[in-house]
Amino acid sequence: MKVAVFSTKAYDRQFLETVNAVNADFNHELVFLEPQLNQQTAPLAMGCPGVCIFVNDGADAKTLEILAHNGTRLLALRSAGFNHVDLQAAAKLGIKVVRVPAYSPYAVAEHTVGLILMLNRKLYRAYNRVRDDNFALDGLLGFDIHGCTVGVVGTGKIGMIFAQIMHGFGCSLLAYDAYPNPQFEKLGASRYVQLDELLENCDIISLHCPLTPETYYLIDADAIDQMKPGVMLINTSRGALIDTKAVITGIKSGKIGYLGIDVYEQEEGLFFEDLSDSVIQDDDFQLLQSFPNVVITAHQAFFTREALQSIAETTLSNITTCEQNKVCANEVKLEDGK
Ligand code: NAD
Repeated sequence: MKVAVFSTKAYDRQFLETVNAVNADFNHELVFLEPQLNQQTAPLAMGCPGVCIFVNDGADAKTLEILAHNGTRLLALRSAGFNHVDLQAAAKLGIKVVRVPAYSPYAVAEHTVGLILMLNRKLYRAYNRVRDDNFALDGLLGFDIHGCTVGVVGTGKIGMIFAQIMHGFGCSLLAYDAYPNPQFEKLGASRYVQLDELLENCDIISLHCPLTPETYYLIDADAIDQMKPGVMLINTSRGALIDTKAVITGIKSGKIGYLGIDVYEQEEGLFFEDLSDSVIQDDDFQLLQSFPNVVITAHQAFFTREALQSIAETTLSNITTCEQNKVCANEVKLEDGK
């Protein structure tokens, strides 16, 4: 199938081209495009029955209309999340949407733990100090993760692996999930609770649920009010699970003691680009960056060799399955967005 691949970076091209070449079932015609998909760039996919996008591409109704008008009938996401796609519009226009439901959940879970350790032991400050021949320890005091109560919001593939790792650290685990997973409570020192109880009792809270209308701003001012003073809040899922302004207020008041994020509400215009020569216009983002107890990574939790290989394989396999008019297990159905 001829496929327009939006938001292509060198690493996407490398993995997709290699996997496409070695598997005889694939052999798709991949048209690599650097721009993000949006209403302005959608015409670049003219004549491509397939369009392949990543997390910060926009597939709103108007964009999908342009794609459909130009012959696109398949939207292949190189991501698990599909909150950036108007599923209703896609269904109406006859565009099938497929995704990569799992690609190394270890990558994201391990990065989440990396953020926790970075914050807890202030490794980002320690690294800079030592490079500066400043070997003083003042200001680097941490706390033991062992014995902490960790809250896991969403115990799917990533949340479960994260829970296992934190269990290994000797933490007690509280989880909240709309659909509890029986494996979670088998970990030991772990139980499901309502969100309120999780917020009230955890030293570290980590978000691993999808962004849906129901989870939008799950962490707002009221939720923050319920948290323990000095709580560590970690988000490697989707930016809009958190009300950024409320979190800034929480950090300023000391209620939130540590914030680690790999995703940001308004990341579309920032992440995945080198903007080091630009003046960033997003005041909330700049304010967050100015706090000494905040660590931000730019949506890199997924970024391991294993994950990129898996994303390429599943994406190309999804495209082959749809091209052959077979049922694709990774199709995103309209009801999945509810
Ligand atoms: P998953 O579908 O396996 O698990 C999600 C879990 O969230 C499920 O158990 C589900 O029941 C639960 N859930 C759904 N609605 C909920 C609600 N309202 N409240 C609480 N829990 C709810 O997904 P996963 O593979 O574990 O991925 C989790 C999220 O991680 C994805 O949705 C995506 O947004 C994010 N992600 C981020 C990166 C990154 O690079 N930062 C990479 C991959 C995925």
